[in-house]
Amino acid sequence: MKEMKKQQALSEEEEKKTQNTCFFECYKDTQWGKNFRQTRGLFGVNDPIPVSQLAASQSTKVCGFPVELKREKKCEECGKLPCLIKARMKCHGSFGCKSPYVATGGIAYFVPKTVVI
Ligand SMILES: [Zn+2]
Ligand SMILES: [Zn+2]
Repeated sequence: MKEMKKQQALSEEEEKKTQNTCFFECYKDTQWGKNFRQTRGLFGVNDPIPVSQLAASQSTKVCGFPVELKREKKCEECGKLPCLIKARMKCHGSFGCKSPYVATGGIAYFVPKTVVI
């Protein structure tokens, strides 16, 4: 009985953490990705081709560092730019990953450097 209580408290704590955290996956750039963007040029986050999941999967390899951000009140959705930019900056700054993609909820988002201020 005591054990169960302990477990319950732990999962509640975990749940709280999940609610208060934005989770991202951080990527490293592949050679294909570098070449692709060099050829393509950069047209920002609305460019449909680099935004496609196919381009993302070709351009990236998982770097192995999950990115966790403290969720701020203004984060309505991690797939929106303010949160994505923070994740990308953390990935770039902490782990030196230069891929312009970050993923959250299984979807990769294109966040080019020009947006990272
Ligand atoms: Zn990384
Ligand atoms: Zn978020």
